[in-house]
Amino acid sequence: ATALARAESLIRSIPDHPEPGILFRDITPLLADAEGLRVTTEALVEPFAGSFDVIAGIEARGFILAAAAAIVAGTGLVPIRKAGKLPQPAAAVDYALEYGTATIEMHDDLPAGSRILLIDDVLATGGTLAAGRRIVEQLGYTVAGVSVLFEIAGLGGRDFVGDVHTVFSS
Ligand code: 5GP
Repeated sequence: ATALARAESLIRSIPDHPEPGILFRDITPLLADAEGLRVTTEALVEPFAGSFDVIAGIEARGFILAAAAAIVAGTGLVPIRKAGKLPQPAAAVDYALEYGTATIEMHDDLPAGSRILLIDDVLATGGTLAAGRRIVEQLGYTVAGVSVLFEIAGLGGRDFVGDVHTVFSS
């Protein structure tokens, strides 16, 4: 098997987490594997080489991959956080969850016109990444791309978010 196929095999599915009926894709065994972490991080940024200035990661698992990707790409990292965590949020975007709503926030310390690569671990309904795209644009930055480790296909996430690069798809 290729290194990427081996890495994919390290993602495990946990039934009924965090709620009954949800099949949760657990990426922690992949993160714990040196080669798995390296090849998937490289695959996240490869298609966008040279086309972005900085990487933004979405709380919380997105931070892990975004930080690794920023080192690989030689860029800095910007956190997009759940409401109330950042000390000086410049924008807030509300989005729908399966039950209820959530809010993300972001700072605006980047140079004007910065091109941002947006990274998260899993794409499900797409609500989170669509909100990520909106907050970047609301601050006047450009979304250079959206990149995700694992896509749960069949939930419409890809159509909702727009152009998304996914390393693995179920
Ligand atoms: P969406 O907004 O696309 O419905 O859900 C994606 C967000 O929820 C991501 O931030 C992701 O971290 C989290 N998420 C949803 N389902 C899963 C899953 O099965 N595994 C993991 N690791 N995260 C998930």
